[in-house]
Amino acid sequence: MSIQENIRKLRAEISDHVAIIAVSKRKPVEDIMQAYDAGHRIFGENRVQELIEKQALLPGDIDWHMIGHLQTNKVKYIAGFVDMIHSVDSLKLALAIDREADKTGRVIPVLLQVYIADEESKFGFSEDELNSLLDSQELSVLKNIRIDGLMGMATYTEDLEKIRLEFRYLGEVFSRVKNAYFAGSDHFRQISMGMSGDYEIAIEEGSTMIRVGTVIFGARTY
Ligand SMILES: *Cc1c(COP(=O)(O)O)cnc(C)c1O
Repeated sequence: MSIQENIRKLRAEISDHVAIIAVSKRKPVEDIMQAYDAGHRIFGENRVQELIEKQALLPGDIDWHMIGHLQTNKVKYIAGFVDMIHSVDSLKLALAIDREADKTGRVIPVLLQVYIADEESKFGFSEDELNSLLDSQELSVLKNIRIDGLMGMATYTEDLEKIRLEFRYLGEVFSRVKNAYFAGSDHFRQISMGMSGDYEIAIEEGSTMIRVGTVIFGARTY
């Protein structure tokens, strides 16, 4: 099937309440344009260099989401245009995004990344760390980031039941954080979870944003 057919099929398959972030990393701008021509507008990249190159070449009405680990010294390259950063995993990064967003006169929507996998390599806060972060005076004064929800990545495994429990846990953390810190906010509503192999489970467990590359663009060759 073509990229256009893949995106249309996926859109028809899932609820309108779930946003599709088409993960275009390592894929050429021609592929992105095929999804664009099928009406898709939200694309995700995980490297700053690739994101800025593609953003410069592609139509201005695309929403660009940064989904990968972000170094504080690179925030300045994307702060002027990025529509959401899914991967805020430290106070230092939140401060850097706020500072750079302020310089460009923007408020950048962000998600806080929660560590839900049992792998050494994954980034993100534990629930305790999340609570300390949200209690901190330093975070509460920031004016140029808006915390729209949480993001998580499940363990890389074939064990779908394990993945389901990790997504369920993220949904529970989301509810606790919302009640404790964002009860009066209408912005804190996003749970970014689910990739090509597990987005159906993620949606069943409450995902509002799936980040899918392979099901739209096909396998990546590295
Ligand atoms: C690559 C990537 C995805 C999408 O992976 P697929 O398996 O191709 O859907 C989602 N989230 C993040 C953070 C990624 O780096």
